Amino acid sequence: MAGYSNFKGDNALFINPYNFVSVDFDSEPVRKDASVRKRGSSGVLHCELVTKTPLSIPDVAEADLSKDHKEFDFMRNSDEVPMIPGSSIRGPIRSVYEALTNSCMSTVDEDQLITYRTKKAFEPGLLYLDERGEYHLFEAKRYIFGVIGGTYARYDMEPDLYTVEVNRLDDYAYGDTVYISAVKGEKAFKTRKGFTTKSVFIEKMGKNKADGLMQGYICIGEPFARKKHFESVFVKEKEVAVPKNENGQSLLSKPVKGLSEIIKLYNDDKLNSNAKNRSFYKDRNYKKIEKGEYYPIWYRLFKKEGKIVNVHLSVANLGRSAYSADMGDMLLEYKSCKKRNEVCPACSLFGMTGTESMSSRVRISDAVMEMAADRTQKVTLKELSGPKTSYLPFYLLSKNGNYDEEISYDNEAYSIRGRKFYWHSLEKGSYLEPNGIKGDRNASVELVEAGNKFSFNVYYDDLNTDEINKLIWTLTLGENEISGKQCHKIGHGKPIGLGSVKITIRSQEERTYAEGEYKITHIEKPMIENNVFDDKSVVNEVLEITSIEACKYPVDYPAIVDAKGKKYNDGSNTHASHQWFTSNYSLGNSPEKVLPQIGYENNNEHALRWKTDGGDMHSDNQIKDKTKAQNPLLKMGAEYAGMVKGYNDKKTVAKIKLDNGGVASIFYKEIKGAKYGEIDKSFKNGERVNVSYCGKNEDGYDRWKLLRS
Ligand SMILES: [Zn+2]
Repeated sequence: MAGYSNFKGDNALFINPYNFVSVDFDSEPVRKDASVRKRGSSGVLHCELVTKTPLSIPDVAEADLSKDHKEFDFMRNSDEVPMIPGSSIRGPIRSVYEALTNSCMSTVDEDQLITYRTKKAFEPGLLYLDERGEYHLFEAKRYIFGVIGGTYARYDMEPDLYTVEVNRLDDYAYGDTVYISAVKGEKAFKTRKGFTTKSVFIEKMGKNKADGLMQGYICIGEPFARKKHFESVFVKEKEVAVPKNENGQSLLSKPVKGLSEIIKLYNDDKLNSNAKNRSFYKDRNYKKIEKGEYYPIWYRLFKKEGKIVNVHLSVANLGRSAYSADMGDMLLEYKSCKKRNEVCPACSLFGMTGTESMSSRVRISDAVMEMAADRTQKVTLKELSGPKTSYLPFYLLSKNGNYDEEISYDNEAYSIRGRKFYWHSLEKGSYLEPNGIKGDRNASVELVEAGNKFSFNVYYDDLNTDEINKLIWTLTLGENEISGKQCHKIGHGKPIGLGSVKITIRSQEERTYAEGEYKITHIEKPMIENNVFDDKSVVNEVLEITSIEACKYPVDYPAIVDAKGKKYNDGSNTHASHQWFTSNYSLGNSPEKVLPQIGYENNNEHALRWKTDGGDMHSDNQIKDKTKAQNPLLKMGAEYAGMVKGYNDKKTVAKIKLDNGGVASIFYKEIKGAKYGEIDKSFKNGERVNVSYCGKNEDGYDRWKLLRS
């Protein structure tokens, strides 16, 4: 993995944009009967919200969604003032409250099927549904034939291989019954990846039954961008003895459900932008199975002490398969509350939906910007991509800390990591598409810049003192100062460094009822009660991930850096961050790196680190050849002293020679009172100055802030 970094230095590292606050899945939330509660008090918290990074709240209703590249304005109220809908604040507040009170995980989709791309060890098979509605799995023998373009024929890489009847492959659909004869013996050949493998070739193939021909089912693989390839015919062999689980259900029932979900998923045009794949899964002819026909399938058996304990199915070799466990199985007792007589603290406060719904006792108003000037900017964001739930080293946690056993959602040695939150990243401009490309995978948005203030109200009804204290703590994260460091993340673009906000409470009005009358108490800047939550280690994890000072390095997915320590921003596949993830872990193997835990000792920097020297994964010479960068290592936010040493021709930029040997350039707009073409007037040559490093701008140049002169 050498060569990958988002940081230049001898040790490469990166901080993954998200991490997880721990959940003890062996325990469960404390649930109580919602109807058994003493009458509490009501009131309102007048809150302020200050943006610490740019914020995006896309006005989806006003956008033209028919365009490939979507453009969104910042949401505004009827007076055209930028506004954050209450729901955009409420969601993140509830998530933090859920973590702090060990509540249910209400936002996780329990029905979410977790799928992955199969890599190896899947066997050819046939699936069959009998009249009683039970599934059977049969082993199959695979016979192959070469295909050139749409025609199947002699495979011309191996001149001595065999010719089958030349027909259009297009005449066949996935799963069609065919009749074949085979060439005697296995023949070794090279696959497209250059591996040598052995298989039996088909000699004759047709749709008509004839003497001496075997009955089989045609299995057409996923389309690849190549003209020559092999396709298969599966011939039925003996049944696989798949056992039943303790409920008397076949172990096949969950995998079959997963398989049909995958096919459904790929048929949903909204969910799948990969047109090639979509048409592939659309053509899988899955209805055949319901007609009682044998259906070609790829399967993998999982065994423990010789007994089959699980089965995975896929309609393609190197295709998609699903874990038997869905998200609901992983959540265990942390599935969302369902019954009014068993509600966790968060559902009790914020309400729940479903058959037994319950209204919220907390209402958050829209937050309206307090404007001196409408400080927004329109930018093109980079793509919001990153490892998903199928990236096991980042989503699953080994219960014994050892990742030698196969990582899988179906392996009880692993649990999900907990509640997902995003780190704050103060690196300026990290959210920008580096080349300004406006594609269908990224969007352009109007951002409210850092340093803007919004105000909103939190109305509460019938809360006891403990609940009010917990709500106040959650809103302020235990610190009622605008200059504070404990911040929430709201809005769009959380993984790319947008949406860090500080919430404070200006005042509180509380209405209590006693001796037949209401009393209203006004409290200026209410006190924060500390120690209101039971689990101190969870409080510490929340404080860590909500601290804008937690990460000392830029928060970003790994990129490949060139000789000067600059990221490759050419958009090419070989330089994409997913290459790091692929080289770190391939299915079935032990991962090289797993996501560090928030509270993990010796990892206060929250980064994954590795040595850059030796064993470059890519043969890219530029990556190997590490010459010294122009500037010594720079730390975000760190102060550097130096001296003004000249200007550019236009007198818009002042150059500063730093005492550590580096160079800083300051743009006139960064200096109060400086004018275009006259930076020399506010910034004299030879003057001693202190600057702080603010990361890189969209063009990859270092950005500096003047501290004092
Ligand atoms: Zn709940």
